[in-house]
Amino acid sequence: MKAHSKILLGLLLGAAGGLVLQQFVPGAFDTGADGIERLQAGCARDNWLAPFRLGANVFMNLLRMLIVPLILTSIVSGVAGLSGGREFGRLGAKTFGWYILTSLLAIITGLVVINLTQPGVGANLPLAIPDNYEGAAGRSFADIIERMVPQNVFGAFSDNGLLLQVIFFALVAGFFIGRLDEPHRGRMLGLFESGFVLMMRVAEWVLQLIPYGVFVLMVKVVGETGMSAFKPLLYYMAIVAFALLFHAMVVLPILLRVLGRVSPLAWFRAMAPALMTAFSTSSSSVTLPVTLETVEKRGGVPNKISSFTLPLGATVNMDGTALYECVGVIFLSQFYASAGGFELGYADQIYVVVAALMASIGAAGIPSAGLVMMTAILSGLGLPVEGAILLLAIDRPLDMLRTVVNVWSDTCAAAAVARSEGHTVLQTTQT
Ligand code: ASP
Repeated sequence: MKAHSKILLGLLLGAAGGLVLQQFVPGAFDTGADGIERLQAGCARDNWLAPFRLGANVFMNLLRMLIVPLILTSIVSGVAGLSGGREFGRLGAKTFGWYILTSLLAIITGLVVINLTQPGVGANLPLAIPDNYEGAAGRSFADIIERMVPQNVFGAFSDNGLLLQVIFFALVAGFFIGRLDEPHRGRMLGLFESGFVLMMRVAEWVLQLIPYGVFVLMVKVVGETGMSAFKPLLYYMAIVAFALLFHAMVVLPILLRVLGRVSPLAWFRAMAPALMTAFSTSSSSVTLPVTLETVEKRGGVPNKISSFTLPLGATVNMDGTALYECVGVIFLSQFYASAGGFELGYADQIYVVVAALMASIGAAGIPSAGLVMMTAILSGLGLPVEGAILLLAIDRPLDMLRTVVNVWSDTCAAAAVARSEGHTVLQTTQT
């Protein structure tokens, strides 16, 4: 069975199981109190739900266990490999410029859409409100920058909320490994590359568990509050989909046309195989071979450019993920802020923009990586990570969409960089 069919089955069976519990096992849920009150009241059904809650937490911990080693090894090996080849200077600058520009535009699109629609305000989500919300309130932009630089690397590694510090250290370490003399450069690079391969193996294993994870999550969520949580979530999903499509179909095509002088429609048609693979696998890394093939054979981009831009893009350039980090975190903050009666300040939003960019650079190109990184941003804001656990139940369709956007942006970068280097694209016979 295909991975997404399994997940769908997990989702449906979980919802059915949860509904049965909710309908037939009596508890405080039947008193008519709503949302949070029902949760706080606790209920007889709690006993039934306890193992599912445990399963959901263990599954989420497994995913979070991957964050630090995966970010560290992927960024260090990527950046070290890059800065070693000095001849790539100009190409590297252009590619990086495009990646940062498009990711930031994606985040801004998400920020505008989520602030205009405010789906989290007053949403009836089955999440407990934290007693004290710190947020980034009272923190200035300067504080955010200051907190990005770790005083102690091991301190940064030991707390998932300090994600920005891990990424900062990884970028610095990667950069200098690339500049070490042999044999040290080779040794260090080999160490981190092998570490990355190891972590991807572990990740593959954990990812096989996603259908079961979704099943226990659904039993837990539906068993607690019935299907009512899904109304705000459906609205939220529609907003995420809209923002992603806007970025992919308006923002990126304009850039492609203006900066790359390539017809977006023709390029989109040529890229169809890579985009469809991204959609069905939810993984930019798994899609990478197809992306390379499609960009070279159907797009006509020379191998010299595609083999540089695309592997790098599959790890660091994730527009869809960047947008999603921002939208997801602000959605949950809107909920917490409106339910808990506190304000979501500008400093919070600035923190979320910076963190979303870093998280998208640090996220691995594997299913649900973006969602897992979101837990780190939430911890950084002092918010509970349960919100991300709730979103995991409905992550797959959104993950499929954002992976398409991630890969689409990589291919646009390859086309624009090729054009800027004086090559023609889309000239080869289509296969
Ligand atoms: N699945 C995405 C990718 O591989 C990452 C994410 O979860 O956002 O590109």
